[in-house]
Amino acid sequence: MSVLIYTENAGGKFKKSIFEAVCYARAVADQSNTTLTALSIGNVNTDELSALAKYGADKILTVTNSQLKNFINQAYASVIAEAAKKEGAAIVVLSNSFSGRGLAPRISVKLDAGVVDGAVALPEQNGGRFTVKKTAFSGKAFAIVELTSAVKVIALTPNSYKVVEVAKPAKIEEFSVDIKASDLKTILKEIVRSSDKVSLPDADIVVSGGRGLKGPENWEMIEELAGVLGAATACSKPVSDAGWRPHSEHVGQTGIAISPNLYIAIGISGAIQHLAGISSSKVIVAINKDPEAPIFKVADYGIVGDAFEVVPKLIAAIKEHKA
Ligand code: FAD
Repeated sequence: MSVLIYTENAGGKFKKSIFEAVCYARAVADQSNTTLTALSIGNVNTDELSALAKYGADKILTVTNSQLKNFINQAYASVIAEAAKKEGAAIVVLSNSFSGRGLAPRISVKLDAGVVDGAVALPEQNGGRFTVKKTAFSGKAFAIVELTSAVKVIALTPNSYKVVEVAKPAKIEEFSVDIKASDLKTILKEIVRSSDKVSLPDADIVVSGGRGLKGPENWEMIEELAGVLGAATACSKPVSDAGWRPHSEHVGQTGIAISPNLYIAIGISGAIQHLAGISSSKVIVAINKDPEAPIFKVADYGIVGDAFEVVPKLIAAIKEHKA
């Protein structure tokens, strides 16, 4: 038995969330005193593949089939399941990214495996029971899930596990697999990027604005703060409902749930439905002119003040610090 980690790439590069998942999978393998195989699909150069060893992979399988150049849920799930069978993997780990969320259940069906998505901690194995802690109800609660199947699939929430370098060499092997026509019913022909901004679900730092910003014309300073911090931008629901920002930026119970290392809430009151999507952030900073705003109850750091005065000063201070 071994552990398999699927390492998705973005344009031939691995994101930090993938290295986190490799470190997590390494620790899972160590719990069972077994080996860790990393699987990469698509064109990734040898230097980038070798980085997977730095985070704990013992062996790296690479699949460069031209039919898999672009992401296809069904076909990728089949390849990952085939690799798991070839490696005798009892546990398959992947990142709970946008594509990971689509892949995990498909892989579990192919391997007759139990699946836990949104894992936030290492599995606990007591008295033959295998349990994993995961987020539930859009981050408002945690659930402990027991997996009773022989093969298990775990999708790890980004930013929930520390990256630790172990620096060891690993073999890189080509893995060739026949892609069935039934897995190619939907083919992604082209990805057209709509912006070069940091993607919100994977972001380390998120700068988020609420109704306190008064209107879309005031988002320039939010964009600028995000720019100097290398952050993604987000917003509260009323902001996207009003069309000030796109719905893809709406976080919360009815939007997306995120868990960045740093969440900066500006002019956001901190309604329960908003907190549902951001409460697993590592550090929350709130800027609000109302000292009684509920957001301060969950914030690690709070600035009571007018966003239109505080944010420009913050931008200037960060620029000065970076100079
Ligand atoms: P407000 O509550 O209006 O807060 C604005 C804040 O800005 C205030 O605290 C104010 O003190 C501060 N402010 C004003 N001027 C300034 C200034 N110059 N400088 C600094 N601070 C200032 N909301 C979500 O966000 N996400 C969801 O997913 C979501 N889902 C929902 C689902 C349901 C079923 C329901 C009923 C509601 C949902 N909501 C959601 C809405 C939620 O209840 C709140 O209404 C919303 O989060 C409030 O948005 P806000 O904080 O931007 O605005």
